[in-house]
Amino acid sequence: MTSSTPEPGSPARRPLLTRRNLLAATGLTAAGMSAGPLLGWGAAQAAVSPDCPPGTTAPVPPTARGPAIPASGYLVEEIADRVYWLTDGLYQMIFVTTAEGVVAVDAPPTIGKNILRAIATVTNSRVTHAIYSHHHADHTGAMILFQGARFYAHMEVADLLRQTNDPNRPLPDVTFDRHLAVHAGEDVLDLTYHGPNHSPGNIFINLPAQRVLMLVDVVFPGWVPFAYLAESQNIPGWLEAPAQALRYPFDTYIGGHLTRLGTRDDVLIQQEYVAELTAQAASAIATFNPASVYQSVDPTNPWAIFRAYLDGVASQAASAVIPNWVDRLGGADVYTLPNAYQLVESLRIDYGQLGPFGIHP
Ligand SMILES: [Zn+2]
Repeated sequence: MTSSTPEPGSPARRPLLTRRNLLAATGLTAAGMSAGPLLGWGAAQAAVSPDCPPGTTAPVPPTARGPAIPASGYLVEEIADRVYWLTDGLYQMIFVTTAEGVVAVDAPPTIGKNILRAIATVTNSRVTHAIYSHHHADHTGAMILFQGARFYAHMEVADLLRQTNDPNRPLPDVTFDRHLAVHAGEDVLDLTYHGPNHSPGNIFINLPAQRVLMLVDVVFPGWVPFAYLAESQNIPGWLEAPAQALRYPFDTYIGGHLTRLGTRDDVLIQQEYVAELTAQAASAIATFNPASVYQSVDPTNPWAIFRAYLDGVASQAASAVIPNWVDRLGGADVYTLPNAYQLVESLRIDYGQLGPFGIHP
């Protein structure tokens, strides 16, 4: 394992928690991915030694792997006519080179100033239009790099940005409610809001001419969703969003995260995973016996009882699902339990499937 001590002559690094712990916590060792962007290191510096001890997570399936990230720390590729994706292996954004200037969607801070370097490798034009997929700083915390551009966002995003006043995420110049067509030269980006899903104001970005759809923190091509169903705030909306995505005529899906581009099949595969987890969560709510937790907790502590109950239900659901997916999606053993927990809670409090805590007889 590479030491967390900086090597002599290496550039100044951010103080780390411990690299070993963070790699283990994120599953990056098993993924064989560069942890550099996450840690503020260059890709080459952060390359994981092949003689690392085996991780505690399942091997990453080949279908979860994406293109190698160059030593520069970023990969930029044209994926459709003048549409480029830009990734550091953990985060993704897109930009379009138009006759009017560059249209950029999101600015993940882990890619940071490499965004401007990447754009400069394909055009001399500057960013004239900057679009927020949603307000979360992990995807948009470097939007300040596009200062001078016209900023676009859903009206909910404007409100949320106003609340927190982050200087790195400028307020939008243009907001909309249901739909906005952003024109730049001959190009069109259709922005549509189908209601809250992952977050309030998270929009579908459709490039009809190039058959590209960007929808962030909803579908994770090759991987299970991030913990707690991608930390989503409106689970019914998040559960419906993949079907809404499939109504668009795209060939390439940009999910905003991880190793590779997505396809329509990736959307279907995630729907299958989530449907199976939902069925098992519903079954666990119906069959888990709350009395089984009473022996192990303080009977005068309702929170302790409830925590043990919910953990037990989620664990029963996750255990039934993980073996079926560990060879199909990356991280199935890492994040299925928190995803099950979130589904159990949503089935209970959003959908009213309350199991033993329903209407008292
Ligand atoms: Zn997000």
